[in-house]
Amino acid sequence: MTNYSPLLADARALLIQAKHVAAFIGAGLSAESGISTFRGAQADALWSRFDPAALASREGFFANPEHVIEWYNWRRQTLAKASPNPGHVALGKQKRLIQITQNVDNLLERAGVPGQHIYHLHGTITKDRCDAFCGYERTLDLEHPPSLGKCPQCGHFLRPAVVWFGEGLPLDTWKKAESLCARIDCLLVIGTSASVYPASGLIHTARNSGARIIIVNTQPSDVSDMASVELTGPSGEILPELLEGLDICSFRNG
Ligand SMILES: [Zn+2]
Repeated sequence: MTNYSPLLADARALLIQAKHVAAFIGAGLSAESGISTFRGAQADALWSRFDPAALASREGFFANPEHVIEWYNWRRQTLAKASPNPGHVALGKQKRLIQITQNVDNLLERAGVPGQHIYHLHGTITKDRCDAFCGYERTLDLEHPPSLGKCPQCGHFLRPAVVWFGEGLPLDTWKKAESLCARIDCLLVIGTSASVYPASGLIHTARNSGARIIIVNTQPSDVSDMASVELTGPSGEILPELLEGLDICSFRNG
């Protein structure tokens, strides 16, 4: 064990005692795989280089759809070249843990987390969907993503299957996440500044329902004062040690 040891032991004890655990994941987890975060102090934070209103809103899309798709395709190709980091790999071994993520990448899936156990609160860039919600969607080849296209069912634009600024979260996923967070007794919060709502409201939901909160992040955040244990450092270093040998579960009975 490393210098995290005393706090790691506390966090492991909480995970072992808990009957129902969930993970709540933000951009910090994937940042260690070279996927840029949107916010934060990093020089490569996406919104320090790009205009969110132009690239991640429906208005921006309709103003210049080719440009928006080009930007998403650049991110898709970046993702295709990226690999799950040790933090993803550690989470990938937790086959019974529901992992609620704000990330639109597929690195948890690629690390082995069963797809049905990943709640993508902000959608995924690995698919396009029909902007008119006719139900059509397509899974993309991330290395060779297609340029701007129209829905073969209804003729409206196809767009990334992500949640843009000003849009609501996918209702089914949100409801499942909220109801889970109201009944767990431990929430593992990883790599998030907890500044994006409503997603971060799930941490409050869990805390208000009596859950213990374990935070893994490179720096203190808005929810640090809710933590029973806060582990400060890279999730790629902390998670392998924190989760070593554990089989934490979102469903355990009794
Ligand atoms: Zn359509």
